[in-house]
Amino acid sequence: MTSPPKSPLQPVDSLDRRPRLAVHKLSSCDGCQLALLNAGASLLRLAERFDIVHFAEAGIIDVDAEADIALVEGSVSTAEEAERIQTIRARSRWLMPIGACATAGGPQALKNLANAEAWIASSYPEPQHIDARPTADAVAAHVHVELELPGCPVSTPQVLAALASLLAGATPLAEQDKICLDCKRRGQVCVLVTQDAPCLGPITVTGCGALCPSLGRACYGCYGPAENPEVATLAQRFAELGLDAEAVKRRFLFQQSGAAPFQQLLREWHPKPRAGSATASVDQGSSMTSEDRDHSMISASGEDEDD
Ligand code: SF4
Ligand code: SF4
Ligand code: SF4
Repeated sequence: MTSPPKSPLQPVDSLDRRPRLAVHKLSSCDGCQLALLNAGASLLRLAERFDIVHFAEAGIIDVDAEADIALVEGSVSTAEEAERIQTIRARSRWLMPIGACATAGGPQALKNLANAEAWIASSYPEPQHIDARPTADAVAAHVHVELELPGCPVSTPQVLAALASLLAGATPLAEQDKICLDCKRRGQVCVLVTQDAPCLGPITVTGCGALCPSLGRACYGCYGPAENPEVATLAQRFAELGLDAEAVKRRFLFQQSGAAPFQQLLREWHPKPRAGSATASVDQGSSMTSEDRDHSMISASGEDEDD
């Protein structure tokens, strides 16, 4: 990941006006906007420091407003959005996609792995009226962006910290650590080691504070790949836990299915035979029963047996 460019703002005290902030929405569930709305007192301070020119969830609507900083939630999934993101780019000095949808296509990018046209035809009686592109794309696939903040939803403290840096005329820091480092700092018990749960923490960038492992659950990678992720190595580890090749790929192809390292895994990865068994397939060599495997996948997907 390259470092983001310098802030387009002067330190706020030397400006003769408040910087303009816009929060745009493309195809999304609004969860990242809600994460901002839930900022409480910090949101009030944000409104004091910025002139918020567009933020539909907060009731401020001027979609064509010029902005110093524009946050964008959601993926580019329609022809109208493909045009609108160009306009947003042209009217924004600093463009910051927020959340898994805007940074990697989000859950809706799963359609990129299938025949989206056939899905639409099977779901709608008059599919010709559906304005949907064949793929759901990250914002950066269409326009230049200054910094991406991933997560599903995005981390509110991360967004506020980035905005505070920009206000001070400084370059926001892009996270580089992996979730495992958060676990170690917090003294958490590792669910991969102790429960054989297929945890994506070793290759996922931090930002959530190791939320899922702190609740005894495996990370499913909603913040996306960290720098230099050893994706194939972790996939092989999951195979050695007893997951078959399709189950392994499904662990990676979820909220961040559009991320390049996960796409590479989809194209290139095949499980290696287990050590000591030159010919055995992963399933043949596994000591995990199908019941064990189902349990592992269930706990990994965040559903408790008690739920
Ligand atoms: S990243 Fe997650 S929370 Fe944010 S808009 Fe997309 S689906 Fe919703
Ligand atoms: S629980 Fe997951 S994130 Fe935490 S240390 Fe283990 S593998 Fe890493
Ligand atoms: S632990 Fe993983 S899946 Fe859970 S919130 Fe953090 S990045 Fe997302």
